[in-house]
Amino acid sequence: MAAISSKEIISIIKSQINDYEFDKKDRETGTVIYSGDGIVNIYGMDDVMYGEIVIFENGVKGMVQDIREDSIGCVLFGSDEGIREGTHARRTKKRAGVPVGEGFLGRIVNALGEPIDGREAVKEDGYRPIEEPAPGIIDRQPVAAPMETGILSIDSMFPIGRGQRELIIGDRQTGKTSIATDTIINQKGKDVICIYVAIGQKASSVARIVADLKKNGAMDYTIVVSSTASDPAPLQYVAPYSGTAMAEYFMHKGKDVLIVYDDLSKHAVSYRAISLLLERSPGREAYPGDVFYLHSRLLERSSRLSEELGGGSITALPIIETQDGDVSAYIPTNVISITDGQIFLESDLFFSGQRPAVNVGLSVSRVGGAAQTKAMKKASGSIRIDLAQYREMEIFTQFASDLDDNTKAQLANGKALMELLKQPLSQPLSMADQVVILVLATHRLFSDVEDVNGFRWRLIDHFRKNETAIMNELNDTKDLSDELRKKIEEAGDKFKETDM
Ligand code: ATP
Ligand code: MG
Repeated sequence: MAAISSKEIISIIKSQINDYEFDKKDRETGTVIYSGDGIVNIYGMDDVMYGEIVIFENGVKGMVQDIREDSIGCVLFGSDEGIREGTHARRTKKRAGVPVGEGFLGRIVNALGEPIDGREAVKEDGYRPIEEPAPGIIDRQPVAAPMETGILSIDSMFPIGRGQRELIIGDRQTGKTSIATDTIINQKGKDVICIYVAIGQKASSVARIVADLKKNGAMDYTIVVSSTASDPAPLQYVAPYSGTAMAEYFMHKGKDVLIVYDDLSKHAVSYRAISLLLERSPGREAYPGDVFYLHSRLLERSSRLSEELGGGSITALPIIETQDGDVSAYIPTNVISITDGQIFLESDLFFSGQRPAVNVGLSVSRVGGAAQTKAMKKASGSIRIDLAQYREMEIFTQFASDLDDNTKAQLANGKALMELLKQPLSQPLSMADQVVILVLATHRLFSDVEDVNGFRWRLIDHFRKNETAIMNELNDTKDLSDELRKKIEEAGDKFKETDM
């Protein structure tokens, strides 16, 4: 046997080196090099995408949130027990997503779309990534249909349109969640899908909200996505995106969707926790620099699609909790600038019994007017200005003893208006109800009434039952002609005589 020359050996080695194929499979798995506080660093997963889901040996899922030169940072969607140095992890090549479908209506799910209401599994119609680019300008159309809250103080002065984003902002315990749940309750029979996303709320609060929705027959068309305060921060962080993915499924089917994010202050806090653990540098108020982008890319996804795309819409009601009414803090200013208006709730009003505690001066809706029905627009007329004048006059005339008749009348009218804007929970007023109240308020029917509140409900009850011609005309034409206004005024005057 001839000996192999050294030259040949070199060429064999060279060809082996050239032909050597890196084992691709190896890059699909990695090894944990650090685990703690729900954050895991993995070595060896070179091709992984930002936002991709990885699965650990024990079945717990994580999401890639940080890609560094020699390792990746990952947040865990479950307990980090059993995940330690040396634990293996595998790529899924799927970006984080949630199952979607009609089957989710009436259900309570966690931020990953898994049912947590103890009922049967959900039959899903598909899977959607939780992060999706917002529809482009061409794919949208202007907001033109109202998303009625059933709350007189909002629908009359700060109307919300389908596809709009209206912020609900106020200190703790000022009725923020109640505005959102009442709006959901008011969608009954209006062919609107509702999604309530709880972010970092107490489990007991979520249970109370679900019970409330059930009692009012609103769960049939509602999905509750719940991430409670005891859930890991990553679950709280993805919850609003998961809810939006579910909403988009319906929007792309041409449906109108209402989504509530309760609340984005806690969402920002959970993101801050994740970012600090991932060792990103903190910025203003210790929030990471991209927290504005975080909320804008979430809220941009609410829009009204063009007719070619089915005309579906997502209306968003994000909630922000302020500290001591400070709307100029970092997160509140961010979200105020992203949304199309805000309903500002005030502690002082709330505690003085003015509920819902809407601050008329600081609240605004920047697009809703376009979506208001003609009837509502004509009926609500000057009430915002009347109220503003009343509030000012009230302060100035506090210590004055002799007022002229005109001022007295204006004060009485303003006082009655304030009473009319008080509204108990889960008692929505339809558009026709509201128009009747507003027309009669402008007619100054309530100015000399002792118990405005009680009288108002008796009056509405009377109109609903006995003045069906008026109510039907309002519902059919959605307009308020001068004759109809006259009829309402006459019917109101007549009722007042019999009621007194
Ligand atoms: P938190 O800051 O704890 O989330 P919140 O601002 O969401 O509070 P809610 O939970 O909606 O406030 O309401 C606080 C309390 O006020 C509740 O007990 C609720 O029943 C009551 N409340 C809210 N709105 C009204 C209303 N219009 N009429 C009567 N009570 C109300
Ligand atoms: Mg709340």
